[in-house]
Amino acid sequence: MDDIDLDNLPHDPGERKAIIEYHPNQRDEVRRKYWIRGPCQPRSHTFEQRLVGNTGNTLRRFNPSWFDQYSDWLEYSVKTKKAYCLCCYLFRDKNKAKGRKIGFVTEGFNCWNKSDRFSVHVGKEINSFHNIAKKKCEDLFRQGQSIKHALHKKTNVMKDEYRVRLNTSVDASRYLMRQGLPFCGHDETMDSSNRGIFLELVKYTAEQNEVKEQMATVFRFVEKNGIVKERFVGLIHVLETCSLSLKSGIDSLFSKYSLSLKQLRGQGYDGAANMRVAKKHFEVGDFFDKVYVLVNVLIASCKRKDLMREIQRGEIEKGISSGEIKTGKGLNKES
Ligand SMILES: [Zn+2]
Repeated sequence: MDDIDLDNLPHDPGERKAIIEYHPNQRDEVRRKYWIRGPCQPRSHTFEQRLVGNTGNTLRRFNPSWFDQYSDWLEYSVKTKKAYCLCCYLFRDKNKAKGRKIGFVTEGFNCWNKSDRFSVHVGKEINSFHNIAKKKCEDLFRQGQSIKHALHKKTNVMKDEYRVRLNTSVDASRYLMRQGLPFCGHDETMDSSNRGIFLELVKYTAEQNEVKEQMATVFRFVEKNGIVKERFVGLIHVLETCSLSLKSGIDSLFSKYSLSLKQLRGQGYDGAANMRVAKKHFEVGDFFDKVYVLVNVLIASCKRKDLMREIQRGEIEKGISSGEIKTGKGLNKES
């Protein structure tokens, strides 16, 4: 069984190989990855016109608003200039698909004058080919969450939540003791408008913590004439700021714009203190190249990753003590 690089699966539907070509043990991993990424929807692409219709004299092009209408499955390949269905790509069964309209599945669809074909593809019946495929995608995703990942993850999440609750209570108690304030309120029932200082303080602290994390994404690129430009691409909502969830946020962004991670020369987070920001400007390009290689090499081996973490920790410690690296919330994160 060949090792597959799940992070570098081709985004463009026209460049992907059939799921059946992957080893049976790898198929679900690949499917899950594609499903989490979401359909390839390059909205800002300049869609070309083509002659359609019976007489072949009508010019039509792909309409990006179809992405909104069929946001969970409709894909467009910049390479083949055709539309596809993500669900059916992931779960098409060659035998069952025989004799059916498989335009969105294998050949791709480009009859832009027949936009009713999208809803025909979905089908009215709950057991239409497409709806069954979609159900399978959702089941697979849920399975991945519950069995393999969630079990391990949940215990950690629960531990963290417990710690947060405990710390909040301790902090609130300390505050009240310092101020000589009473803990109990006159009415501590759930619908009381004032449940006493302690409970109200805990509630207030909880509300402050519920602010969702956002990640601003900026692309830095070099134009043909050699001018380096930076463009703000958008905000991505992330559940947490751990490297994994930032990474999957970036992954779906790339998928959305049909960009290849292979073309990415490097990524930096939060002022990228952990990557030891290049001190001089001319070093930056070189630095990002190195990071790209580093990230790739590290993913391949857990051992190497741990080793690198250790080295990196040593470096950071050195940096902090010599005053080279600034400390603070959100800094010194792993890529
Ligand atoms: Zn479909």
